[in-house]
Amino acid sequence: MNTAYISGVLRNNAQPDSFPPHRDPTERYDYAVMAFHFRHPTHGDILIDTGFDRTFHERPPNGNLSFTMRVYYTLTKVRCIQSDGDLPLGSHLERHDINPAHVFLTHLHSDHTAGLPSVPSQSRIYYGKRERTLISRLLSSNHFAEKSSIHLLDMSTGKAMAPFFHVVDVFGDATFGAISTPGHTRDHLAHLISTSPTPVLIVGDAELTRWAMKDEILVSTIDGARGKQEVQRSATMIRSFHAMHPHVQIWFSHDEDHL
Ligand SMILES: [Zn+2]
Repeated sequence: MNTAYISGVLRNNAQPDSFPPHRDPTERYDYAVMAFHFRHPTHGDILIDTGFDRTFHERPPNGNLSFTMRVYYTLTKVRCIQSDGDLPLGSHLERHDINPAHVFLTHLHSDHTAGLPSVPSQSRIYYGKRERTLISRLLSSNHFAEKSSIHLLDMSTGKAMAPFFHVVDVFGDATFGAISTPGHTRDHLAHLISTSPTPVLIVGDAELTRWAMKDEILVSTIDGARGKQEVQRSATMIRSFHAMHPHVQIWFSHDEDHL
């Protein structure tokens, strides 16, 4: 489900030293703002990320973003665009009769949490235990108002599933795995869903887009050298997984196309 677009230059979102010669760091791209829905036979409707709610249409361009994010987007000339044709999260939920019991956040950046106000207050919300930092609170805390059911995933308890090191089998039935893919943020998660006949891997922001993954571009991090190392390690795991299991669809948080 695409909820809006974010327009910005490539070097805002990725590491320029990983760009191939044909990619111009100053070129602007319109990135989709995706949320994903799955229906588990017994656990009900599951969302991964929440995109944008309708405030981006009602109060353009920055909708329900925090003051810190508005300043950041103004300084970096990033624009949020939710035009008439783009459905905010709440409209997608109504249209497809989705009542989310579980909401998994790949990470706490506000372009992944800004749809939370459209999610029922009793929905169970999950994210990585180490993800909640002072910065993440400044960026997205207003999106968690009235949300009482927060569940922190301790990725250190995850089991190895090559090429990934830490995978948590969330429902204990091997249908839905949360995968530690840090770097872009401290405790970023990808998710592997054993849908039939085609399983799906949602990589969140561990890879920027389909074309960026094909170009072996690495996403941005605010964690300096350590963050860069982790981004590289997570991308290597995802790219090896894709080589080992080419039939698994790979979806990105900022692309309407899958791999
Ligand atoms: Zn992000």
